[in-house]
Amino acid sequence: MLDTPFNLVINGQPVGSAGRIDVIDPATGRPFAHCPLATIEQLDDAVAAARAAFPGWAATPIDARADALLRLGALIEENQADLAALLSREQGKPVKSAQGEIGGAVYWIRATAGLRPKVERIENPEGPVIEIHRKPLGVVGSITPWNFPVMIAIWHVIPALLAGNSVVLKPSPNTPLTTLRIGELASAVLPAGVFNVVTGDVEIGSGIARHPGIDKIVFTGSTGTGRAIMRDGAANLKRLTLELGGNDAAIVLSDADVDAIVPRLFSASFGNSGQICAAIKRLYVHESLYDTVAARLAELAAAAVVGPGDGADSQFGPLQNRRQYDYVRALAEDAKANGGRFLSGGEAPDGDGYFFPLSVLVDVSDGMRIVDEEQFGPILPVIRFSDPEDALARANRGENGLGGSVWSSDPGAAAALAMRLESGSAWVNDHSTISPLVPFGGAKQSGIGVEFGQHGLDEYTQIQTLRLPRG
Ligand code: NAD
Repeated sequence: MLDTPFNLVINGQPVGSAGRIDVIDPATGRPFAHCPLATIEQLDDAVAAARAAFPGWAATPIDARADALLRLGALIEENQADLAALLSREQGKPVKSAQGEIGGAVYWIRATAGLRPKVERIENPEGPVIEIHRKPLGVVGSITPWNFPVMIAIWHVIPALLAGNSVVLKPSPNTPLTTLRIGELASAVLPAGVFNVVTGDVEIGSGIARHPGIDKIVFTGSTGTGRAIMRDGAANLKRLTLELGGNDAAIVLSDADVDAIVPRLFSASFGNSGQICAAIKRLYVHESLYDTVAARLAELAAAAVVGPGDGADSQFGPLQNRRQYDYVRALAEDAKANGGRFLSGGEAPDGDGYFFPLSVLVDVSDGMRIVDEEQFGPILPVIRFSDPEDALARANRGENGLGGSVWSSDPGAAAALAMRLESGSAWVNDHSTISPLVPFGGAKQSGIGVEFGQHGLDEYTQIQTLRLPRG
């Protein structure tokens, strides 16, 4: 067991609690550390601290707020090695991937800190001058999942703070530790109360969603929880940004360049062991390329090393938690029972931990669970099609609409088809790629609103129009 203490961060202070969360190492299935479990009273304290800090922070010039956030970025960078080791241990991903997540978070902070809310003017030569200002909302509640605990926390917190809001963040109880450390680092560079971190699961999460002292929720997680947050937040009409589940389809047309696309399809399907909201989760391949693409993906999958985060050769880690592991295994069994054939993987190895091999599954079709449900794990169903229109219709089935892609040697034709995907992001010969300056969000039930870039920053603001007399 790690003996380093972890604390909640309330009003800039480390705070303990009588309750505790045992944090499981996904590579062993056993607890390796613990942290305090916040009470509802501590959530109230955190919200009160955030409310008290809000006016001063909102009145701080935005360049000074941006400087403070850049100092936080620098502190995270200085502590990258320790943070990555802790993140790898609690999340399961290889240390190198965890370093990539921490480095990516620093990169995101730097890019986001350069954004500024824009003041627009409506000019009417005969009438008054109208200015459109963007003001902070107040206290933002942030609720994060376990797949990219640090990256997603940064995605929420940095634009919220930059826009002048204060924040109460609750990480997933599966992966709270690195986020608590970042809260501790933030206390050194931000005024007390501006950024608070509490822990817990449904009780504290829905406590945040119901809280009358919170003005907006930014949530990344499952669609079901998103619905609950929307219901709970209705009492005080909370603003919402919801980044929810996806079941992204990729469509490979008959003229695609197999050599060029297979490595990219592979990484967009299996990155983070498939635990990425906008990973490829259904791969539709034209019948003329079907056998070749599936076989080539299976070769890469079979050669990949799945192992513990601290393993020298590990390229992919275990599933993050028992529930996800059981779910992925059940999907594999259901696929086998319904005629699916694994070209690689398909069976969890014996032994400890939540390991599941990278698995390529053929002879599957729409209507099977592995195609219709979001697996959020390392099984890629490869589905045959003959008519691109039919593939598009199948890609657009279901409640999700996060991302989608079309792969072809004719980018113009691919773009025309990609734009008919019912998804918040569409890629050509690419998938999952995101940028701090490009808005990202879900269509249909994959979410509400967007993150990143100017549009993402605007989500942490309220429009105020100012009408001025001319002259
Ligand atoms: P989850 O919905 O189970 O949990 C996410 C967070 O919500 C956790 O912090 C949890 O404690 C909290 N929570 C649970 N019940 C709550 C409630 N009633 N009220 C308030 N908070 C509550 O999701 P997960 O299993 O941690 O993450 C996996 C899901 O997240 C997948 O569906 C995945 O697609 C989605 N995801 C989406 C994106 C995106 O950007 N769209 C990114 C990553 C993950």
